[in-house]
Amino acid sequence: MPPDLDAWKSTVRKLGDNAGYYMLELRCACGHVAQLEPREIAERADWDTPLDEIAKRARCTQCKQRGATTWDVDRIRRQRWRTKV
Ligand SMILES: [Zn+2]
Repeated sequence: MPPDLDAWKSTVRKLGDNAGYYMLELRCACGHVAQLEPREIAERADWDTPLDEIAKRARCTQCKQRGATTWDVDRIRRQRWRTKV
């Protein structure tokens, strides 16, 4: 069996878990999905804040409703990172 590369996701419960190295995905009841970087959120919340709490506090930018219905974590994609060596 190949190693489970997504196993770390289940260990992320607080903002500062996995050294804040992930993307937080919040899904609203209206279907809107927002991707946030933990260091962005950390400007307004403590690194110890549970992600459940952050999802509850978040406000949807589309329908203005407070509280995401689900949240998930994803790995960071370096789409804009180009380098020549
Ligand atoms: Zn919404």
